[in-house]
Amino acid sequence: MALIQPELTKELKKYGAFDFNACYNCGTCTSVCTLSTEDNSFPREMIRYSVLGLEDDLKSSLKPWLCYYCGQCTTSCPQEAAPGELMMSLRRWLTAKYDWTGLSGLFYKSWPLTVLGFILILVAELGFAARLHFHIDRIMYYGHYFEMFSILGVFTIILLPNIIRMWYFTLLKRKIKAPIKAYYTAISDLIVHMFTQKRSLDCDDNKFRWFEHFILVIGYLSLLFTTVFLNWFETSNLFINILGYLESAVIFIVTFDFVLSRIKKNKEMNKSSQPSDWFFVIWLLFMGITAFVVRLFIDIHLIDIHSTIMNSWSWVYMFHLMILGQWALIIVPFGKWTHFLYRSFGMYFAKIEELAK
Ligand code: SF4
Ligand code: SF4
Repeated sequence: MALIQPELTKELKKYGAFDFNACYNCGTCTSVCTLSTEDNSFPREMIRYSVLGLEDDLKSSLKPWLCYYCGQCTTSCPQEAAPGELMMSLRRWLTAKYDWTGLSGLFYKSWPLTVLGFILILVAELGFAARLHFHIDRIMYYGHYFEMFSILGVFTIILLPNIIRMWYFTLLKRKIKAPIKAYYTAISDLIVHMFTQKRSLDCDDNKFRWFEHFILVIGYLSLLFTTVFLNWFETSNLFINILGYLESAVIFIVTFDFVLSRIKKNKEMNKSSQPSDWFFVIWLLFMGITAFVVRLFIDIHLIDIHSTIMNSWSWVYMFHLMILGQWALIIVPFGKWTHFLYRSFGMYFAKIEELAK
């Protein structure tokens, strides 16, 4: 009989896992999972590794990223060991392992620490606005530069090294010898999965969720492009203006539905939300609303982007900037946003591994 390793069990529970030690290894979860294959069999194997405390095997596995959290395994488990939730918790745990700063793990395990981070960003923003004497034209000018430099900085200083660490744990350390050609042949998989997440279509009863995720990803990335590179808040181009409204409305509508689903808990995947899940959907919802309202206030002349006067309507922009700062500096590099990135690279590395065989 396998020995249970309580330390890893305790650790994984901090990332949202339930009583997976109740598993008696029947294999039902693996047989019902439509994404599990002969070459990439899960979730039972991941449960075994977790129960036995095989940290290195878990850290080097790409399988948690191949699961799309449909919840079928959890509803079929005779032991109520919640294998789907374990897979989700392993993704959070892996995110913390990839992160060289160590902050990801701290934020996942302690929501008050996340809130403290949010407060520090708010204080920094107010301090910066005070140094600019609350001149709204200058705050918006620097706010736009903040967007650009935060994207560049977070990607190069945090996310890129973390992806390299993921590659080290999952391919290099396992001595997967893939030819260079495999790396560029598999790039199409990276791009397709990143933008379409089409693998989730293979999860039963999941078509509408796939569609929502798809338009959310497209809406989010294009709003980022419209605000950062097309300078949506300052443009007088009608096409860009309408495009920005549409993109922010899409983000608002889809995330509103996500928040409602989590409140109603009407599907297995929505039944056990962690603080990091709430932060992700609520901040995305606020980003959609505040971007829409800021541009609307500019268009109906409640906010004058060339004025130095900070009127009461301009505080909507300050709120938008606060949400943006907390999103860009905490949720994107250390929170649930990273799952979007790591899952895409998980697919990419899995394809490279397949090509190396
Ligand atoms: S269905 Fe439940 S008991 Fe059976 S292997 Fe999966 S987690 Fe374990
Ligand atoms: S949650 Fe769905 S995709 Fe993930 S392991 Fe379970 S059945 Fe498979």
